[in-house]
Amino acid sequence: MRIRFLAALSLIVAVAALGIAVGDFAPSFGGNHDAAASDNSALATKLERTSLELSDLRRELRRIRDSLESKTDRIHHLSRRLHHNSRVLDRIRTAAGQHLPLTDDACSVNLALAAARGLTLPADFELHCPGPGFDWNGTSHWGITCPYHHCPEGAGAYVSISNPTYYVVAHELCHAVFGYSGSPQGERRADACAAKHGASLDSSPYN
Ligand SMILES: [Zn+2]
Repeated sequence: MRIRFLAALSLIVAVAALGIAVGDFAPSFGGNHDAAASDNSALATKLERTSLELSDLRRELRRIRDSLESKTDRIHHLSRRLHHNSRVLDRIRTAAGQHLPLTDDACSVNLALAAARGLTLPADFELHCPGPGFDWNGTSHWGITCPYHHCPEGAGAYVSISNPTYYVVAHELCHAVFGYSGSPQGERRADACAAKHGASLDSSPYN
């Protein structure tokens, strides 16, 4: 761009110099006809070449302007999308009542949401998320909380979550925090606790 601009500038200077030269020649026409005619034809050739170069430059300029316009459009489009995405992120942050980690990983986002609602993993529990959620038979579940030292996925205690929706995360955290068992009554309590911490029970298998 800069080099092309300089080329255009030097061309303009050349045309201006040519104008001055033509002006200088005008008074000498009366004196020496042959010399004047030869100078004239040299000037005409130069002028023709210059005008060809000028039209080349105009085409080049048009091309650059077009490409600049399309790039400007693209920048506008991207900045509109960025603006939209940051508004969405702001809404999620407001819902959480605190700053969420800058990630779209469902485990991190739903754990942060649960923490914002007063539900955090106890210090002596590890988190496997995403994890297999294995029971003793090796069957995978949405979420498993194992409070013991010896557990299906190795040493406990841990919460293992294979389907990190907010409901599952809240339900498993409730098992870990309040010690609800896997009995039907324990599951109902874990569900009630999840609901109390903002989870919808629509997808609950204990409903
Ligand atoms: Zn449960």
